[in-house]
Amino acid sequence: MSPQTASTPRSDPPALSAERLRAALDGAASVFAPDDDGYETARTLEHGGVEHRPAAIVRPADTAGVARAVRFARDAGTPVSVRSGGHSVFGLGHADGALTIDLRGLEGIDVDVDGRTAWAGGGITAGAYSTAAGAHGLATPFGDTGGVGVGGITLGGGVGLLARSRGMTIDSLLGAEVVTADGEVLRVDAEQHPDLFWALRGGGGNFGVVTRFRFALGEVSDVVGGVMLLPATPASVAGLVAAADAAPRELTMILMVMTAPPMPMIPAEWHGRVVVMANLCWSGDLDRADAALAPVRNVAAAAGGAILDGLRTGPYAALLEGGPPAGSTVAVGRTFFTDGLDEPAAAHLLGELESVDAMMRAVQLRVLGGAVADVADDATAYAHRGAAVLGNVAAVAPTAAAAAGYTPWVETLADRLRGTSEGVYANFALDGGPATARAAYPGTTWDRLAAVKRTYDPANVFRGNVNVLPG
Ligand SMILES: Cc1cc2nc3c(=O)[nH]c(=O)nc-3n(C[C@H](O)[C@H](O)[C@H](O)COP(=O)(O)OP(=O)(O)OC[C@H]3O[C@@H](n4cnc5c(N)ncnc54)[C@H](O)[C@@H]3O)c2cc1C
Repeated sequence: MSPQTASTPRSDPPALSAERLRAALDGAASVFAPDDDGYETARTLEHGGVEHRPAAIVRPADTAGVARAVRFARDAGTPVSVRSGGHSVFGLGHADGALTIDLRGLEGIDVDVDGRTAWAGGGITAGAYSTAAGAHGLATPFGDTGGVGVGGITLGGGVGLLARSRGMTIDSLLGAEVVTADGEVLRVDAEQHPDLFWALRGGGGNFGVVTRFRFALGEVSDVVGGVMLLPATPASVAGLVAAADAAPRELTMILMVMTAPPMPMIPAEWHGRVVVMANLCWSGDLDRADAALAPVRNVAAAAGGAILDGLRTGPYAALLEGGPPAGSTVAVGRTFFTDGLDEPAAAHLLGELESVDAMMRAVQLRVLGGAVADVADDATAYAHRGAAVLGNVAAVAPTAAAAAGYTPWVETLADRLRGTSEGVYANFALDGGPATARAAYPGTTWDRLAAVKRTYDPANVFRGNVNVLPG
């Protein structure tokens, strides 16, 4: 299924009356109908090439406004799409003809410093949350990019720069406030609606709109982190994967084997050449950092020295800054898990990256283990705890049509790298169709999710996601 068809409503919804919508919301949300100023800006998403045109976009100011919008959509027979940080890799935040509930009016965060917990609005970004928590020397693990919404990353799982030390985002989720398909507001945690609480931890946006999340916070102040850029050879790529796997769990590493972008901090002679970028975060005692990072520096030395060594001591939240401007990226990709990456596999990967002419092509390798693997597969709806590496193959192009031309290459390489590993990570999936959903939620995870779906959203109102069918 293509990104464009993935979240398209399955039958033509009745036309939506903006007048009736405004009357129903009665000021509880800003409304952007297609003829309104602000509609085009409001429908902008992170990824370029996604052109979904919702019937209207509403931006509620609070939970009650979200509930009103859900009830209106239900009564009007209009599908719902949910937009939080707008970073869905296939533009899930909007769907053609749907009512988009844009959560950016729910961006608050309330940190309980003594209790080591925080309540955060369903529309806050990982960066804003981490900056606010970081002011108290505290953090919840999210991903590697501050612009990503806490909403999407949490519901899909959350694998980031604190993954090996503190686990996935869902491992820090303590509770949530959820507007269900019939517009009811539920408090959900281990005691209240435990089936729904289990499903929210990895099952995506299938079960309702989460208006507030309650997270545990851990003490994380200064870390050693940043990027190192190395020449890419089979030995350097496989050596970094091995070093990341063998490292103490306080070290998390995300590798990008890619064509070097023409950025000023990268020496010009490397622009366009295949390099390996290691995005590192050491969150243990600072006086143990050098020893922990020594194997990484040894790999760099063996490869002829680092092209760029951007490792610094500083606040964890600073590592999440940056990222591409909205609408700037048109890419195709395919996610996979694998047991590891030896030198022959790395050699194959490098050969493939040299073999295509996409303006940028990359293989991302997130080395897992550590705290990610401490949790049982059935404890949450993310059932891939034993995977050693989470990967993603991507090709970037100027237009969606050009990018689509690289799809066979992307798929073939991902299939080769996954070996015998099965499954996909829902947050990196490029479509939400049945095959992807089954791969993201294998075996009994699927059965349990479908049962929760039947209870809380039997009509599949929330289907703009990696979709769990109630039937
Ligand atoms: C540049 C970039 C970097 C990334 N880095 C990482 C990373 O390091 N680790 C990682 O795990 N993932 C990462 N991702 C993937 C990211 O986690 C997913 O794309 C996620 O869905 C984005 O969430 P969002 O809220 O920004 O997106 P949106 O497009 O706003 O939302 C995506 C979908 O999530 C659901 N959703 C979001 N919020 C809510 C809510 N409050 N209630 C109900 N449903 C909701 C809806 O189905 C919605 O359509 C990255 C993506 C990008 C583009």
